[in-house]
Amino acid sequence: MLEDKDRIFQNLYGQDDWGLEGAKKRGIWVNTKDLVSLGREEIVNRMKDSGLRGRGGAGFPAGIKWSFMPKEDSSRPSYLVVNADESEPGSCKDREIMRNDPHTLIEGCLIAGFAMGAHTAYIYIRGEYYLESTRLEAAIEQARADGLLGDDACGSGWAFDVHVHRGAGAYICGEETALLESLEGKKGQPRLKPPFPAACGLYGCPTTVTNVETVAVSPTILRRGADWWKQFGRENNTGTKIFSISGHVNKPCNVEEAMSIPLRELIEKHAGGVRGGWDNLLAIIPGGSSVPMLPKHVCDTMTMDFDALREAGSGLGTAAVIVMDKSTDVVEAICRLSHFYQHESCGQCTPCREGTGWMFRLMQRMVRGEADVEEIDMLWDVTKQVEGHTICALGDAAAWPVQGLIRNFRPELERRINEYKQARQAAE
Ligand code: NAD
Ligand code: SF4
Repeated sequence: MLEDKDRIFQNLYGQDDWGLEGAKKRGIWVNTKDLVSLGREEIVNRMKDSGLRGRGGAGFPAGIKWSFMPKEDSSRPSYLVVNADESEPGSCKDREIMRNDPHTLIEGCLIAGFAMGAHTAYIYIRGEYYLESTRLEAAIEQARADGLLGDDACGSGWAFDVHVHRGAGAYICGEETALLESLEGKKGQPRLKPPFPAACGLYGCPTTVTNVETVAVSPTILRRGADWWKQFGRENNTGTKIFSISGHVNKPCNVEEAMSIPLRELIEKHAGGVRGGWDNLLAIIPGGSSVPMLPKHVCDTMTMDFDALREAGSGLGTAAVIVMDKSTDVVEAICRLSHFYQHESCGQCTPCREGTGWMFRLMQRMVRGEADVEEIDMLWDVTKQVEGHTICALGDAAAWPVQGLIRNFRPELERRINEYKQARQAAE
C-alpha cells in the first residue's frame, strides 16, 4: 500500500492550486536545473535503472525507448511528442494530471526532451479535453514567464519549448504514428512500423511519442532516485501507477497506488467496494477496453501489474479497471465494445476494416438471440483472422475483448442462444 507522502501526484483531485505557485510548493520545478545538469546519458541510464515502463498501455521500458534517440547532434531536429489523446474506454487518468497538476507534465517534458536531445515538445491532447488543454496552455505560459521554458530553460542553457495541439475526436489518433500523421496535418492513419518514430517520426525526424503519466513521473524518479521508485511493485513492474476505477463500484475514482497491488484491495480500499459486495462481482476488465475481461474467480487473487495480468490472459493496459457486477449483460457489454472498435477502425487494412464489422454483426446476433451455437466458433475464428494481421494494435484490441468473452463466458453464450432458440421454436 502506498503512503500519501509517496504519491507523485499530490494534487490529483484538484484540492490545491494547479498553477505554478502551488506546483512549486509541492516540489515541482525545484532543482530542475540540477536534474538537467546530470546530462543526457546519465538521465537515460537512471530511467533505465528505475525500470519505469510506459504508462500508455504497452508497457515498453521508458529508458530504453528514450535511448533510441540519436546521441549526437544531426541536421534533423529531434522531437518529444506527448500522447495525451487519452481515449481508451474506461481510462481517465491523464485527464486528471493535466487538469489538476499540469506542471508535473511540463517539467517532465523538459527533462525527457533534454534527455532525447529535443528542443521542442508537442502535447497532442484529445479534442474533448477542452478544459485540460486550456489549463496546459495557461501553465505553459506561466512556465515561460518564469524562465522555466524558453531559450535558457530553468537557467540550464538548454532551449526548450512546449506546444499544445488539440485532436478532433478520432480514437485512432492515439496510435502513435496516426498521431504523428494528424500532427502533420494529414488524415490520422497509422503508419507501418518499422521504421519506429525514433528513426523516422514527426516530419521524418527522430521522435519519441510517449504517454502523459510516463513523462510526468520522470522528474520525481530522478529526484528521489531509482531505488525509491523500485521499492514499489516488484521486479519488472516497478513504481507507482494511477488506476482509473469505474463501473459497478460504490465510489468510482482515479487513484495513484503501488504497482502490483491486489485487485480486490485496490477496489475495496479506494472505490468503496463492488456494488452489493465482492460476492456480487461478475467480471472485471483490468486495463481499459482493449484487454480481455477476467471472471471473478481470477479476480479474487489477481495482482495489478503488467506480468501478472499477462500471465492471467489479460493485460494492465492503461490500468483502467472496469467493474461489472452480476446485473451485467456481459454479452451486450462486449457487443457494445465491438461496435466501438468497428466505428473507430480507420479502414486502412482489410482484416481490421472487415473483421471489426464481422465481429460486431456476430455479436449483435448473439445479443438478439438470432445466432446458432456454431457461430461461437465462427466468431472465434474471425477474431483469430484479425489478431496479429493488422497494421496497428486496434485490430488486436477489437479481437481480445471478444476472445475474453468466449474463453470465460462460453456457457453463458450457449445458454442464451439455446434459450432464445427454444423460445422461437415454442412460438412457431
Ligand atoms: P507497441 O508495443 O507497438 O509500442 C509501444 C512503444 O514502444 C511505442 O512507442 C513503440 O514505438 C515502441 N517500440 C516498440 N518496439 C520497438 C522497437 N523494436 N524499436 C523501437 N521502438 C519500439 O504498442 P502501441 O501500439 O504503441 O500501444 C498499444 C497499447 O496502447 C495497447 O496495449 C493499449 O493498452 C494502449 N492504448 C492506450 C490508449 C489510451 O487512451 N491511453 C488507447 C488505445 C490503446
Ligand atoms: Fe486502421 Fe484498423 Fe488497420 Fe489500425 S488495424 S491501420 S485502425 S484498419
